[in-house]
Amino acid sequence: MPNATNTPAALTDWRSLLGNAQVLDGAQAQQAYGADTTGVRRTLAGALRPTDAEQISEIVRIAARHRQPLYPISTGNNWGYGGALPARDDCVILDLSGLKRILHFDAELGVVTVQPGVTQAMLADFLDQGGHPFLVPVTGAGPHCSLLGNALERGYGITPETDHFGAVSDLEAILADGTRYRSALREAGGEDIARLFRWGIGPYSAGLFTQSNFGIVTQVSIQLARRPDGVCALLFSLKDDSLLETAVERVRTILQRLPGVVGGINLMNQHRVLAMTAPFPADRLDAHGLIPPEVLREMGRDYHVFPWTGFGTLYGSKGLIAAARREIRQALKGIASRLLFLSPSNAKTLAGLASLLPGAFGQRLGKTAATLGRSLELVAGRPNETALPLCYWRHPRGMGEGPLNPARDGCGLRWYAPWCPCARPPSAPMSRWSGALRPSMALSH
Ligand SMILES: Cc1cc2nc3c(=O)[nH]c(=O)nc-3n(C[C@H](O)[C@H](O)[C@H](O)COP(=O)(O)OP(=O)(O)OC[C@H]3O[C@@H](n4cnc5c(N)ncnc54)[C@H](O)[C@@H]3O)c2cc1C
Repeated sequence: MPNATNTPAALTDWRSLLGNAQVLDGAQAQQAYGADTTGVRRTLAGALRPTDAEQISEIVRIAARHRQPLYPISTGNNWGYGGALPARDDCVILDLSGLKRILHFDAELGVVTVQPGVTQAMLADFLDQGGHPFLVPVTGAGPHCSLLGNALERGYGITPETDHFGAVSDLEAILADGTRYRSALREAGGEDIARLFRWGIGPYSAGLFTQSNFGIVTQVSIQLARRPDGVCALLFSLKDDSLLETAVERVRTILQRLPGVVGGINLMNQHRVLAMTAPFPADRLDAHGLIPPEVLREMGRDYHVFPWTGFGTLYGSKGLIAAARREIRQALKGIASRLLFLSPSNAKTLAGLASLLPGAFGQRLGKTAATLGRSLELVAGRPNETALPLCYWRHPRGMGEGPLNPARDGCGLRWYAPWCPCARPPSAPMSRWSGALRPSMALSH
């Protein structure tokens, strides 16, 4: 075996295996995958686009033979955390977005087995077409992101299965020598049980494949939450920054006391909410290019956005939601202003009514209400692009036509996801997005 990386020889072997069109050289890979919202640059040695999961073992063997590092992506939309870019230079990207099959669905228990290229939108269509009453584990990253990629990064959502890797019951992966990893139950022929019982038998090893790149995961089984009888959003504001600490404690109490009914609660600062609602005040910045506090306050007043906004979800029967609402009112007493509970249909009515109000006030209120309406569709398990406009807030050309893609469009964004101790859902000690705080940092273009 040669000691040095031999990228040209590896590319030649991959072309024989996959065909020319599925293998990109360094320059082509740079063009297709090099852009990233964090401003980080990487030198790419190439990219591979297999269309059949059976090709992956041989792809990995070729990589090992020529000592060429591979970096797998599912849809490569890890915006704010590095996009499609590998953690080091000179890797060949293994783009698995062409593997788009939904391999199995248990319509009774709601467990779906998907390949890496299956997106939130594809699963939503599949569930709609079959009339299956289950929720897509949506995220703010939008309809065109992979379910598998997000779960492997220990992504987070606010539908009932908030911890997306926590909902993974089984997976299959290709290891560095090209051999296949399967859970012990699968190896023993118990595929049906393996999909339902994550712990299987013997040591639990599937977690090794999260945030690690120890193997190339070719399929995961995900437990979906059953669509509840009722979905209701919880919305409240904090008038002052000084209320934040108490609010975090109260949110923690709510999560501890109402597990299973409250999906998740996000606390978002004024910048975060205005970035999804109002135009960027490009002509009113200070000498450092920042929004002066008085301008922020004025925008907050105009768009009815307070220093902090709490947004959460309640799932359950009518009776359960009514009881939870009473508990939440009590828990947030004295700190929350404008505490509202809204169903998706209420939000649509609100947006419709606001747009009938005359003048700029009506228009601004209409915009805030429309954002709220789309957020409610999201928490009802229907993926959409509500959160993505925040990446374009400082973008001089704004959003173009078609699906949004902040990396392709040259937006600047880095996520800063602090951990803070919160209630512990049964299966989720700590995920990437855990904790109640989710401030974002929109960088200038
Ligand atoms: C406005 C906005 C809102 C967002 N909201 C959320 C949110 O609510 N929740 C959230 O979790 N994230 C959120 N994100 C962050 C991010 O965009 C999503 O997590 C997105 O789903 C990740 O991209 P992806 O699914 O294409 O995964 P990929 O980019 O394909 O992969 C992510 C990581 O997993 C590894 N990986 C992927 N596939 C494999 C595989 N088959 N085998 C081994 N390793 C693999 C990759 O190497 C990479 O490190 C948001 C981003 C933005 C811009």
